[in-house]
Amino acid sequence: MQRYFGKIIGRQVLLEDKDVFHLTRVMRAKVGEKIEVVNEGEVYLAQINRFKPLEIDVVRRLKENNELPNKIVLIAALIKGDKMDLVLQKATELGVDEIVLLETERTVVKFKKDEKEVKIKRFNAILKEAAEQSRRSVIPHLFRIIDFDHLSDVDADIKMIAYEEEAGPTNSFNKVVESIKPGKKVAVLIGPEGGFAEHEVELAMHLGYKKVSLGKRILRAETAAFYALSVIANHLEKKNA
Ligand code: SAH
Repeated sequence: MQRYFGKIIGRQVLLEDKDVFHLTRVMRAKVGEKIEVVNEGEVYLAQINRFKPLEIDVVRRLKENNELPNKIVLIAALIKGDKMDLVLQKATELGVDEIVLLETERTVVKFKKDEKEVKIKRFNAILKEAAEQSRRSVIPHLFRIIDFDHLSDVDADIKMIAYEEEAGPTNSFNKVVESIKPGKKVAVLIGPEGGFAEHEVELAMHLGYKKVSLGKRILRAETAAFYALSVIANHLEKKNA
């Protein structure tokens, strides 16, 4: 069933124009059809009762939760255009709670202050769409593009930096992943195409980030993000016997 993030007032569902277009033109929904609507993290079953004007009403609340048990924040160095978009989309599918974008010494992509606001708006549209598609009840937060000196602003209980110079057996990564306890927030830091400068790794370690290896091969920045998040999600979603 199609899912949208909307607003519920009384029993009435309000969708953004983009979602109305998707529902009516792309999905060609009919009167009587049901959709799922997420309002403030809660999922509801709703029914389309009329077009022109569009009237969608709540049927009942659903007790569904597709969120990871732990909050994951992906701190990703800015990478070029469509690859950045892909990372945002896939990170959402893989369950992250927050994405912080980072300007590092070797990031090629740099934005001016006013450009950042426009980009963040566009990035948030990608996150919303990906959250709807992957049936999440939370849209990952993305509200800041920071430089490396502000890494200390990102708060987490367990922090790791995927460092290409550590490439090799994955024990360091697995050790950190296996140490994740319920309720703890996890931060994963991924570098740009050009990798991290040594002083950046030192600063991260000073802030409590553990250096981890994502295997023997050097992955592209986007692959590194997918790999790290997939392994973490897989570990966290194992059902306890
Ligand atoms: N140009 C660099 C590689 C950068 S890869 C070089 O040739 O050395 C981009 C980012 O992906 C890295 O900064 C790191 O965060 C991550 N990464 C890629 N492969 C990795 C690996 N095997 N182990 C840990 N991190 C890795």
